[in-house]
Amino acid sequence: MISLIGIGSKREHMTLKAADRIKEADVIIAYKPYLEHIEDLIEGKEVLRRGMGDEMERVELAIEKEKEGKKVAIISSGDPGIYGMANVYFQIIDKYSDLEFEVIPGVTAATYAASALGAPLHDLAIISLSDLLTPLEEIERKIEHAAIADMVIVFYNPKSKTRVEPFESACRILNENRNPETPVGIVKTEGTDTIVEICKLKDLENQDIHMSTTIIIGNSLTYVKKGKMITPRGYKTKAELPPQTEEFYEKFFNGEIREGQNTDCEYFPCHEKQENCTFCYCPIYPCGDGATNGKWITDKDVWNCKDCNWIHNDKVVDEILDFVKENIHSMEDFDRKKKQLLKLRRATIYKTRNEDYQRCFELDDE
Ligand code: SF4
Repeated sequence: MISLIGIGSKREHMTLKAADRIKEADVIIAYKPYLEHIEDLIEGKEVLRRGMGDEMERVELAIEKEKEGKKVAIISSGDPGIYGMANVYFQIIDKYSDLEFEVIPGVTAATYAASALGAPLHDLAIISLSDLLTPLEEIERKIEHAAIADMVIVFYNPKSKTRVEPFESACRILNENRNPETPVGIVKTEGTDTIVEICKLKDLENQDIHMSTTIIIGNSLTYVKKGKMITPRGYKTKAELPPQTEEFYEKFFNGEIREGQNTDCEYFPCHEKQENCTFCYCPIYPCGDGATNGKWITDKDVWNCKDCNWIHNDKVVDEILDFVKENIHSMEDFDRKKKQLLKLRRATIYKTRNEDYQRCFELDDE
């Protein structure tokens, strides 16, 4: 039996099954540094340490040992199916008959880094920036399409001392196709320490990045709150409506509100960069996510929109006004159509992603 085992990013994240299979194995085959994490599990076993670049040799060795009737463990860091040894193994097994094998998953760098950053993942693309086996143009194409599609993007192997071009290209492509204010999470493991940093996309190129750094690029909805990076999923939340909301919407339903900017209003401008006052009271209230800079007032169950100027942007109003006019005819409709309103908000944030809506970027030290 050959077990292709992912041991995760750190020993404490290894699965019980991975540990069991390592203990049961007669032969351990691994890239040398991975063995540091599992020294206590491999005592007394035949251990074949190999270097970086010897991947095919590791697989051939494993097959040779399996043919001798031994239980073999091939060790990958992270998950064996994500730039690990599983893909190497499956590339050549057709050459052999009667092999018994299994793949044991592990915690990959993307999920490990995400847990250190908060909750930055939603639909995502994991892209290795190593161009050792992949043409640079292929890497660039994938980054560009993932950026346009608004995927959260995770970069593995971003940069080494001799290989900087893919990283520089990635920064350029992302800045061309995504808002430069987008939050970016950077996670490095140094010994037993995990170092976590968050920067803006426009500053990524100047960060201290190396080969084993994991980088997570947020999407149009990603924000930073209390030092954590969050990409919301858009669940419906509840909060009491601000007073006067009902009064405002009575007029709205009767076609009595003034569209566009209302400089005659005694409160104008009630938000920074207020272009449009059509939705004096937001039809999506409470959106319940900080992507446009709203926030909960702690311990009060009140959603505060003071710092959100998104709903007062001309392009945003253009996108949502018709839907509200056609679908919302009573205060009850706001609740009945809430999921549609929240989806419209997500779609509109994407369409207006290059607008300056003061994305929440609340680091602890700010
Ligand atoms: S005003 Fe902004 S923060 Fe408030 S509910 Fe509307 S979109 Fe959300």
